[in-house]
Formats: sequence, structure tokens, C-alpha cells
Amino acid sequence: MNTGIMNRTQITEKLSLSDPASLTALYTEAQAIKTATIGNRVYLRGLIEFSNICSKNCYYCGIRRDNQSVNRYELSDEEVLAAVDFAWKNRYGSVVLQSGERQSAHFTRRITRLLHNIKRFTNNEIGITLSCGEQTSATYREWFKAGAHRYLLRIETSDRELYYKLHPDDKKHSFDARLAAIRQLRAEGYQVGTGVMIGLPFQTIEHLADDLLFFQMMNVDMVGMGPYLEHSQTPLYQYDHLLLPPNKRLTLALSMVATLRLLMPDINIAATTALQVLHPEGREMAVMAGANIIMPNITLPEFRPEYRIYDLKPGINDDVALSKLKLEQNLRTAGIAIGYSEWGDSKRFFSRKRTH
Ligand code: SAM
Ligand code: SF4
Repeated sequence: MNTGIMNRTQITEKLSLSDPASLTALYTEAQAIKTATIGNRVYLRGLIEFSNICSKNCYYCGIRRDNQSVNRYELSDEEVLAAVDFAWKNRYGSVVLQSGERQSAHFTRRITRLLHNIKRFTNNEIGITLSCGEQTSATYREWFKAGAHRYLLRIETSDRELYYKLHPDDKKHSFDARLAAIRQLRAEGYQVGTGVMIGLPFQTIEHLADDLLFFQMMNVDMVGMGPYLEHSQTPLYQYDHLLLPPNKRLTLALSMVATLRLLMPDINIAATTALQVLHPEGREMAVMAGANIIMPNITLPEFRPEYRIYDLKPGINDDVALSKLKLEQNLRTAGIAIGYSEWGDSKRFFSRKRTH
């Protein structure tokens, strides 16, 4: 197989596979290409959901602004540093700071201070990824200078029409602004990650094939994509009857990971938490289909129920240390090594920099 080159028809064929033998062959091929290109190791990023306060109203998300039943919280610097300490002591190479989207001078300054504190606290050892939504170029620059070096901003879907079935059509939820933000992040020097939800109402296999081509066209460094999961207190819930059954959504998500690995062998691909809702070992399955990043949730248990972006979020009551042990055991059994204390940066990022 000629990696990196596939047309839309070839991609839709891969995403339509359903017989077990063909699926196993696809996952095995993706896993082999990953191992040959970037090695067989998985890198851990401790996910810290530091605030659920959000000014946006995405139709699919449980912590959207208009969901009145959510208790809004924001962790103090000390609480964030306690989670960072856990990650650092347990030799996670990086943390991801994630929150709802807020654009204010106060929020910007707060994150800048936090970044400085984390870098100082860990002797600059821990890598930091941000996932705090759309911001101005000046804010991205300030946070980059303060120590963040990766940023995740999913496009959610690369199809403009579908995008507006998932978001209000207003200035706060502009498809063009989202696209521009991904480009701005790149210009500010970040390793840039984007992604989509898989199995959305109204979404077709062709949309998903175009999403994979979009990642390739944008030449992104990282991708985090996972199944769409319903939340009963969101507007999109009314289309629940249009969804694929969970096992089909899981297969589709794994096929998306594997096909992306064939298209972009040297990027970082996350085995996302949403996979774990559909199968207790969904993340490990994604690693065996070509993913190389896992983001275990290390948010303090008392805050987790309030960061419920979809129903049945896994691990809401999990003990962080116990779930870490279980994950490590599963990966060991599958013959996958963990890159402890390593940042595990995207190989493509460095090749991209060299050629520009
Ligand atoms: N607010 C930031 C943003 O939207 O970029 C970061 C936090 S947001 C909760 C992170 C991601 O959660 C979104 O990009 C979206 O893809 C995902 N998400 C939200 N609701 C979801 C749902 N119901 N099912 C699956 N993923 C969901
Ligand atoms: Fe807010 Fe992000 Fe949820 Fe949209 S997806 S409502 S921006 S937290």
C-alpha cells in the first residue's frame, strides 16, 4: 500500500468495512505503519479539566452555556498544581489543560500565570498542551511564550453545512473563525491538533472521508477524534434516533484512526476518552489500530461529574491511581510500551519545520 495517498473513494471503502477479517487487516496494517514510522510507544498526557465555564452554546455539548443544571467551577492554581504533581510524579510526560471557552483579559492572564507556575514547579520538565477554545493571536502568543507548546482545537466537522447543524449560526460559532484559529495557532509556533466527532446525526461516510482529507490538506501535527456521544440536556439529543448503534460507532471510530494512520504515518493520534464509553478497552483498541497518545483524566474526582460533556462519561468515580494501573496492565499485555517522562512530540511537526 502506498501510504499517504488515497482518494475519497478509497477512503470511503476503508471506512465502510464491516467484516471482521477486513477490519483486522486494516488495523494491523495501520499498527505496522505506525511502528515503522514513529515506533510502538504510547505517550501519556494527564488531562486536567480545570473549568467548565463556557460562553458558547455548541448543540452537542453538556457544558454549553445554556445548560442551567451544570454547577460551574474553576479550579484554583493550587488544585491544578496538585494534579500536575500527580502527573509529574507518575512520569506522565505532559499534561493537557482543558476548559470551556472564555475570552477575557482576566482569563488570559490567569492561564499565563498558571503556565509559568507549572513550568517552575516541574523544573520545566512537563510538556503542556492547551485546549481552551478560540482565542486571539495575541493570546495564543502570550501562552506560547509562557510555556504551552501544543494546542488542540477540533474543527468538529470539516463540512460547513454540517457545522451549522451542530452550532448556532452566529458570530460566536463561526466555521471560518474556527478554521482561521487553527491557522493562527500554527503561525504562533504551536504543534497543532484538530479533530472531529464521529457518528454525528446527519453525518455521512463521505463527510468523514473529507475530514481525513482535511487533516492531510491542513498538514496538522496531531489529531484527536472520537465518537459523538449523546447528552440528554442538549439540543442535538432530539436527533438521537438517527445515530448508529454504539458498536457501529466504535468500529467507525477505530476505522477512522486506522485510515488516518495510513494517510499521515508520522503524526500523533489520540485514543480518546469517548472510546472508553463505548467499550471499557476502547482506547487500547485504538492504540492497536494506530493511535499513539492516551490522555488519562486526572481531574480531581469531586469536579468530574460537573465536566459531563456527554452522558455516561467514563471514570467519573474512578480512582486515578487505580485506572492508571489498569491502563498500564492492558497496554503491557498488548505488548505496547509507555514513553514515561517523555513529551512524545509529533514527528511531523519537526519535519514540517525543517522544510519551511
Ligand atoms: N471548549 C474547548 C473547545 O470546544 O475546543 C475545549 C473543551 S471541549 C469540551 C473539547 C471537545 O469535546 C470538543 O472539541 C468536542 O469535540 C468534544 N465534545 C463535546 N461534546 C461532545 C459529545 N457530546 N460527544 C463527543 N465529544 C464531545
Ligand atoms: Fe463550550 Fe467547548 Fe462545549 Fe462548545 S464544545 S460548549 S466551546 S466546552
